[in-house]
Amino acid sequence: MPGFEEVNYYFRKAARVMDLSSAVERMLVTPYREVKVDVSITMDNGELGTFIGYRVQHDRSRGPMKGGLRYHKTVDLDEALGLASLMTWKTAVVNLPYGGAKGGIAVDPDHLSPGELERLTRKFVQQIHEIIGPQTDIPAPDVNTNAQVMAWIMDEYSKMHGFSPAVVTGKPVDLFGSRGREEATGRGAVFALEEYLKDAKQGEVRGKTFAIQGFGNVGSWAARFLHERGGKVIAVSDVKGGVRNPEGLDIPRLIAHQAQQKTVTGFPGSDSISNEDLLLLPVDVLVPAALGGVITEANVKDIRARLILEAANAPTTPQADEALVNNGVTVLPDIYVNAGGVTVSYFEWAQNIQQFTWEEDKVNAELHRHMRDAYATLARVVRERKVSFRTAAFIVAIGRVGRATVLRGV
Ligand code: NAD
Repeated sequence: MPGFEEVNYYFRKAARVMDLSSAVERMLVTPYREVKVDVSITMDNGELGTFIGYRVQHDRSRGPMKGGLRYHKTVDLDEALGLASLMTWKTAVVNLPYGGAKGGIAVDPDHLSPGELERLTRKFVQQIHEIIGPQTDIPAPDVNTNAQVMAWIMDEYSKMHGFSPAVVTGKPVDLFGSRGREEATGRGAVFALEEYLKDAKQGEVRGKTFAIQGFGNVGSWAARFLHERGGKVIAVSDVKGGVRNPEGLDIPRLIAHQAQQKTVTGFPGSDSISNEDLLLLPVDVLVPAALGGVITEANVKDIRARLILEAANAPTTPQADEALVNNGVTVLPDIYVNAGGVTVSYFEWAQNIQQFTWEEDKVNAELHRHMRDAYATLARVVRERKVSFRTAAFIVAIGRVGRATVLRGV
């Protein structure tokens, strides 16, 4: 899994282009706070289950810190550090008044009952409630956490601090969630792609072919929006494997199949394909939307897509990124492409604070505006500095966070 050093590699590359002083560089890289807690619960069989939880708060110069909670067996401090710092740069790329954080629990939630999952979540909140809050650090969903988990977080935190819907985003719409939040990351990724295609004069989504790794929140919504626009999604996968149909998968039917079977595998009318082979398909656009570190030195030379839309966080290792850029492959980077999630999380937080609800049309229009504006800024930096989109995104983010840090003082 990609860790802190991988993100800092991109940071330093951009910092060199910007001629950033080493003192500011050090200040920006250094995390604000790292927390590791014991999350022990009674399992259904009466035995004690002990898990480790993490929350890393990376930077708070531009506002309260923001970032998801991941429940996965690979979660550790280094991964949380890397993902927290990505959040600092991501919120700055789309110009939200936030800093960056990330956390989670090292656990395989497939092995937990719903009751165990709820107890684990509530215990985690008891362990970190003093460092999160609507004006300090606002968690959100990530891998294997969803609106129900966010509802438990809101409830547990509110028991200790009074009614606090704004302590967490990605809540159910019936419990102060925002319309459009669940779809936001996938929708934002498709907006990002459309901005690029328009700018690069490469036509539209219609008729283009796509392979999507990961069919959870982000991957399945991205697939649906691409399908609705006439894109041909020819392969998708999840942790159990992938499915492929060169004519294009029927995405609404695949979503229904997945809802029933809890996997995309075995979808009628498709061939199976491994997660590794999916990445190498000769598609117009490759969309990693699962875990990080999947495009590596080992497979990069076999990647045949000319455009990579990074819906997942940190799917490309720095070595692979260099190789892609050298091979003329365009990589639209995670800190821009998947920023739709945190953008609509920001709208949810703002609605909670104002106790006022937005219609979905307004949410989607505002999301579109943020993704469009961010693209225009990145594209300008790409042209002016002759750098990749990723370096441009880091340059924009470091500029914003750096100015706020220096203005506030040490
Ligand atoms: P999710 O838990 O809803 O879905 C994850 C998907 O990845 C599932 O289909 C799962 O089966 C698959 N997967 C897990 N392990 C895999 C493996 N080893 N190989 C192949 N597939 C595997 O998670 P999500 O919220 O959709 O997040 C996906 C990615 O998007 C993550 O990198 C996350 O950090 C990033 N992201 C999510 C959001 C959000 O709003 N949810 C926002 C920004 C970025």
